[in-house]
Amino acid sequence: MDRLGTETAFAVSAEAREFEARGNTVYPFHVGDMNLPTPPVIQEAAIRALRDGRTGYCPNGGIPELREAIAGDVNRTRGTGYRAENVAVQPGGKPVIGKFLQALMNEGDEVLYPNPGFPIYESQIEYLGGVAVPYAYRERDGRFELDPEEIDSRIGPATKLLILNDLHNPTGAACTREEMQRLAELACRRDLFVLSDEAYFDIRYEGESGSIAALPGMGERCAILYTFSKKFAMTGWRLGAALGPKDLTEAVIRLNVNQESCSNHFIQYGALAGLTEGAGEVERIVSVLRDRREAALQALQPVPGVSCSRPRGTFYLYPDVTEAMRAKGADYETFRRRALEEAGVSFCTRQHFGRPGPEEERAYIRLAYAGLDESAIREGLARLQTFLERSG
Ligand code: PLP
Repeated sequence: MDRLGTETAFAVSAEAREFEARGNTVYPFHVGDMNLPTPPVIQEAAIRALRDGRTGYCPNGGIPELREAIAGDVNRTRGTGYRAENVAVQPGGKPVIGKFLQALMNEGDEVLYPNPGFPIYESQIEYLGGVAVPYAYRERDGRFELDPEEIDSRIGPATKLLILNDLHNPTGAACTREEMQRLAELACRRDLFVLSDEAYFDIRYEGESGSIAALPGMGERCAILYTFSKKFAMTGWRLGAALGPKDLTEAVIRLNVNQESCSNHFIQYGALAGLTEGAGEVERIVSVLRDRREAALQALQPVPGVSCSRPRGTFYLYPDVTEAMRAKGADYETFRRRALEEAGVSFCTRQHFGRPGPEEERAYIRLAYAGLDESAIREGLARLQTFLERSG
């Protein structure tokens, strides 16, 4: 258990809730969650399935209709060639991370993962006996990017796996086609298996998302983490899937048998309705989030000591707060706590997404805007502005 990490963002949530319970207003920019309703077509189908008695166990890899529909959705949006047999339905996207590692990693294997990044990668790699090797995302010319050459330079004889998260939490970065191509070539040349975490694939405002799984040579060495959480505002329903080569899918389904038997039966019918009858629902959700992104970017502009590049996707901003922190003479934790207590604004900092490297000179926070409507975003960030305009 000493090697098992956590999502420290949940601790920030608890702190914010406690502060709120004492009668304070809190602007919850810390939560990677959404305050939008799941589309009615999905709700109705799940309720119908529940009433129809879809309340027993179902096949370990998911109901066949849903496996088929997920394969179809992924093929249509990414240009891959999956069939139902390549899909293992999961209780959320998150379980794919641990199951991918359990299926493919031996003790002592090295796994490349993004830092800053979703903290569960490092936690699961280390818990399962692997060696976590971080690679960076850096801000350059108004965008965050990874560096395929840096990734290449970190590969040694023990490196077996690469985790890619595009679109990227927390920076909102999106790989260019060329970067993705170079990563695919690198994976083939260095014989790496890739986990492509595509949790935010559909939450894209400009340009088009692409999957590394669709590039030449990748079909046999790539798994996709797919989730209903964000695209249909279904975070609490817990439904996602792993897609990959058939032998990997079978291994993941064997893990399902051991760990949860199957994903919740009746909600699979809800998700199925989302894919088959939910035309326009994803676009509606993305459109609301796009307006919130604009509101957040605009409201941040006058905030002293804060500068923010414009992410093309996800529902996060990752502003540089180096000057603001310097003005307050604060370290990350003091800065975060004071923003909560003095402005009611709650957020995660760089430190919630992995250990900062010694070469990192700039300081960042993550503002998640999917859990607040536009007026709350404006109000909260105006409060942050007032807090930062005050000296001391
Ligand atoms: N991957 C990334 C990068 C995430 O940010 C999240 C959730 O925030 C997940 C995976 C897992 O999401 P879920 O388990 O809700 O599908």
